[in-house]
This record gives sequence, C-alpha cells and structure tokens, in this order.
Amino acid sequence: MATKFQALAASAPHAPLKPYNFDPGALGPEEVEIQVSHCGVCHSDLSMLDNEWGMSQFPFVPGHEAVGTIVALGEHAKGLKIGRRVGVGWSGQGTIVSRHGAFADRLRVQWTWARPLPDALDPATTGPLLCGGITVFSPLLQHSIPSTARVGIIGIGGLGHMALQFANKWGCEVHAFTTSDNKEAEARKLGAHYVHNTKRDVELKKIAGSLDLIISTINVPLDIPGLLGTLAPKGILHVVGAVLEPMPIPAFGLIMGQKSVSGSPTGSPTAIDRMLAFSARHSIAPVTEAFPMSKVNDALDHLRAGKARYRIVLVNDQS
Ligand code: NAP
Ligand code: ZN
Repeated sequence: MATKFQALAASAPHAPLKPYNFDPGALGPEEVEIQVSHCGVCHSDLSMLDNEWGMSQFPFVPGHEAVGTIVALGEHAKGLKIGRRVGVGWSGQGTIVSRHGAFADRLRVQWTWARPLPDALDPATTGPLLCGGITVFSPLLQHSIPSTARVGIIGIGGLGHMALQFANKWGCEVHAFTTSDNKEAEARKLGAHYVHNTKRDVELKKIAGSLDLIISTINVPLDIPGLLGTLAPKGILHVVGAVLEPMPIPAFGLIMGQKSVSGSPTGSPTAIDRMLAFSARHSIAPVTEAFPMSKVNDALDHLRAGKARYRIVLVNDQS
C-alpha cells in the first residue's frame, strides 16, 4: 500500500480543489484507516471551503460523508475488522476541522466514529446518511417526537429530502417548506403530505398553530415570528441549518403557547447506528447524483448553484 494519501485540497478559501498527496504519519493506536469508496458532498463542505465559519485550515481536504472499507486498525481500535464496510460522518474530532477529510483515497478516524453499515444499505447512496441523515434524524430522537406529531421540514435540499423520508416513516404528518415550486412533486414522493412555498405569504398563516416540530435546514435567515405562529402549543422550532446571522426571537412568540427554539449538531455514534438500522428497515435512501471524485470542482459548482437533486456523491477514482 502506498504511504501517501491521494487527496483533493484547496490551497485557500474559495480556491478550486487540486490533487494533493500527503503522508499521514504513523497510525494512532485509537485510529482506523479506511479505503474510501464514496463520499457525499454536504453544504458544510462548501461553507468550510469558503471559510465561512472562520475555522478552516489550508490546504483543506473536504469530505465527511464517507463510505469505505477498513484497511488498517490501531492497536486499541475496538469492534472492527479489516475489510469491514463502514461509514464516517462528522466525527467528534470534526473530520474536516484541523484534519484532512474524505475527498481522498483514504481517511483516518478514531475507531468510535467508523460505524459498520447494515448489509441492506447500498454503499453508493449511504454516505449522505452519515452527516446529513443523522442531522435531521437526531431531532426526532432528541425531542421524543410521537408518531402522531405534525412535522415541518424547511429547505428540501440534501438534509431536507432525507428529513421528509425519516419523518414520514416515523409516522408523522409531514409538511415540506420550500422556495422551489419545481420540487413539489418530488417532495410528495419523498414523504411530504403537504408542500408549502415559503415565498407566498399566505402559506404560513394557513397552518397557524398546527405543527409540533419544525426542522429548519436552510442557512439563510428565517421568518421566526411567522414560523413560531405555525407551531402548536409546546411546539419546537429546531435549527440545524448553519445561519450565520443571530436569530431575532420575540419573547411573546415563545411565552404564549410555551414554544421553544433549539438546535443540534449531527449525532452520536449510537444515534448513527439507530438511524442506519431505521433506514435499512424502512428502505430510506438519499436521492443521489454521482460524480467521479476527480470531477470534484464540477460537483461543488453544481451544489453551489442549488442544482443538486438532492445529494451529490463522489465515487472514488483516486486510487
Ligand atoms: P443544500 O443541499 O444546499 O440544501 C439547502 C436548501 O436550502 C436548498 O435546497 C433550498 O431548498 C434551501 N435554500 C437555499 N437557498 C435558500 C434561500 N436563499 N432561501 C431559502 N431557502 C434556501 O444544503 P444541505 O447540505 O442540506 O445543508 C443545509 C444546511 O445544514 C447548511 O447550512 C449546512 O452547513 C448545515 N448542516 C448542519 C449540520 C449540523 O450538524 N447542524 C449538519 C449538516 C449540515 P428549497 O429549494 O426547498 O427552498
Ligand atoms: Zn455535513
């Protein structure tokens, strides 16, 4: 096996990714090494590439929705075997924060975050479950949402299109909130019982006081008073989209009806396993567009232009 990892890296914010080979050094005792077969492209990869969150380091190798097989195990790595197919999302160490991600032939990660994949899941479409999927599955677990709940999903992109499937199979009444009329039919196929275009003012008023949970996956400012108005008493507005601007929350929008606003990062390894098992049981799979990893810049442009339907997966042709 070659010592160097063959990755794709940007040398500066907004720069195109170029081939970048690096020596990862000795394998740590807690680490595993994975031969990457596929990697999803999350909007967070773009935000990190652009250094929107002020924590990117360059050269920057994106990629935190990896699927691959274990090729090396540190001496303290537990429960995994060489050759086991695993998935890796946004690990406790941040996968692409101060370390190199999975737009590469190989990836290293602490063993806890390399999760064995159920055989029923197709490796070609499973990567996006590992970050985008768990991020929208977690709120259902975290808030103990009952199957009788009415759930709204804002933004039918990479995260949102998986959220529609999870909430539907959870048993909920599902409302999709989109700015794109051309997504309506697909949103219904993915599990939405109702689709609302948030560009039309009347849409939120029509469902006032009805939703138990709203999961927002967009990264632009929200109409918070309008959304709080759609919540039923004790309803929750849960934010996972990385909006940079502070959110103006009216106290009386919360007080009357005892409503709340919350947020969460991806999910723990245990929650990821529960999400993978749930996906296998209910045949939940992201709708993907495949690009060869060597065409990563085309893939990033496609996502940036809002054209991805609904998640891009890079197929490793680096090795
Ligand atoms: P994505 O595939 O680009 O989808 C975002 C969706 O937002 C779009 O499909 C679009 O849906 C909607 N949107 C885009 N521009 C908009 C605008 N100007 N106004 C209103 N809606 C707009 O992105 P993603 O990969 O799903 O990621 C979504 C967000 O979640 C990003 O901020 C990402 O960084 C964040 N994220 C957070 C976590 C976490 O741990 N909390 C994990 C993963 C990702 P419509 O066409 O339906 O309107
Ligand atoms: Zn992500």
